[in-house]
Amino acid sequence: MSDIPAPHPVFSSHFTVALPGDPETRNFRRQVTGACYSFTKPVNFAQASLVAWSHALGNELGLTPETIGVEKFTAIFSGNLQEPGMQPYALCYGGHQFGHWAGQLGDGRAINLGEITDCKGQHQILQLKGAGPTPYSRTADGLAVLRSSLREFLCSEAMFHLGVPTTRALSLVLTGEKVVRDMFYDGNPQAEPGAIVCRVAPSFVRFGSFEIFTMHQDHAVLRQLVDFTITRDFPHLGKPGTDTYIAWFREVCARTATLMVHWMRVGFVHGVMNTDNMSILGLTIDYGPYGWLENYDPGWTPNTTDAKGRRYRFGQQPQIALWNLLQLANAIYPLINEAAPLEAALADYKTAYEAQWLRMMLNKLGLEHYQNEDEKLIQQLFDAFKLTETDMTVFFRGLMAVDFSSDLQTVPVVLAHAWYESEPAMQAQQSLLAWLQHYQQRLQQESASSEQRFTLMQQNNPLYVLRNYLAQLAIDDAEQGDFSKLVELQEVLKNPYHEQPGREHLAGKRPDWARQRAGCSMLSCSS
Ligand code: AMP
Ligand code: MG
Repeated sequence: MSDIPAPHPVFSSHFTVALPGDPETRNFRRQVTGACYSFTKPVNFAQASLVAWSHALGNELGLTPETIGVEKFTAIFSGNLQEPGMQPYALCYGGHQFGHWAGQLGDGRAINLGEITDCKGQHQILQLKGAGPTPYSRTADGLAVLRSSLREFLCSEAMFHLGVPTTRALSLVLTGEKVVRDMFYDGNPQAEPGAIVCRVAPSFVRFGSFEIFTMHQDHAVLRQLVDFTITRDFPHLGKPGTDTYIAWFREVCARTATLMVHWMRVGFVHGVMNTDNMSILGLTIDYGPYGWLENYDPGWTPNTTDAKGRRYRFGQQPQIALWNLLQLANAIYPLINEAAPLEAALADYKTAYEAQWLRMMLNKLGLEHYQNEDEKLIQQLFDAFKLTETDMTVFFRGLMAVDFSSDLQTVPVVLAHAWYESEPAMQAQQSLLAWLQHYQQRLQQESASSEQRFTLMQQNNPLYVLRNYLAQLAIDDAEQGDFSKLVELQEVLKNPYHEQPGREHLAGKRPDWARQRAGCSMLSCSS
């Protein structure tokens, strides 16, 4: 051990310095107007303990238990210790929930500690989720339980390593206190371990951050927040002004389109795409009752609260993102006073999404160059998936491994593995075989070698994803104090596109027992 202390990151907060804050500093639930945030202190959790942290992110930030010591790291990321420059605050925002304006929401259980610059020179805000109530907590307690915190911690970093834009997660801390939750909303509340995740992103501003000021007809603060966001997070767009506002909206649309294509590529279902859960940076944000698609089903939603309307089902995510962008357009309209450029940007979202989606599907299929009938080929595959439950992730990895140099008489075993039924109906088998023969002919028109095809497919089809049941098994053990499955998943998900010997058990389809188990197939919002 050297005696020289590691250089310490410097904390600051451009957000609170530049934007209007709530003059009330006492911590009680209230409606806040004319302010983008309220200063709020986290609760002191005397028994907090560190469970896990992201080495990759910690190194980028210069903040790891090794560099600053476990005790200090735990104290900061449980909210017990504020470093110089930290003045914790909660954000004010509103949102459309399930299609309806819900009024003020805000950081009900998130507290921003401050901002630091990472090793790449990018500013990053550090935010604790579950560190106690804020003025925006409404009727809830401001706390979070281990199961949902573990899910957020693992999934944020898994998404990052998959190449999907996302907020990150630095640490997972147990508060040492219990939190009561009625997980199934059935009148059976249980005391569960409380936990705190430290989330990290350049900005936690959401579509709903702008909507609330427009709803309050507070165009002055609306403009301040837009100008700040552009200056701070979209500096390449230049000085704020009407043209810049339009360019900015176009970029938000473009980033959101790209994000949706990624979700569709890896089979991620967010579960609660309310406008308060839409990042202005086009990041995946607010990991709640999300899920990973197992059998390919565009109608699937993991969220029990959404089971009836299935508004946030897998296949509808791109359209919902567009609907959310429309709400953002409405919110910034008072600064532009012209509908046409906003409508044009929304139209471009659709075109961009469709073009990128097609390119993404071709990549998944290992096709380098588009050909006229390719949309049909893709549709036929989805039609085959409809005939028997087929695991999307296992299927595409299997397809990479098929030898197409000779004629196919039956569905190869690597693809039969993707079926949830051991012996699907004849029609399902024949339909997939017909598709494979069609695909084989299509491959003959490609100039790329089979190695090149393999590489393209490998880069676009993950082998390891955070299947719901895997997260649940890690939760079951973590609740008993055993974090080894959590650590194993964290390690494996760092490298999701490459085979890792000895980790085959983490790459298979969902086992039968997990089909109906809570947390494995459906999740509630209770967290
Ligand atoms: P979500 O569905 O997680 O996006 O949450 C919607 C709103 O409810 C946000 O304003 C959250 O901050 C708030 N919220 C959710 N859970 C809690 C909680 N346990 N305590 C306080 N606020 C919460
Ligand atoms: Mg939220």
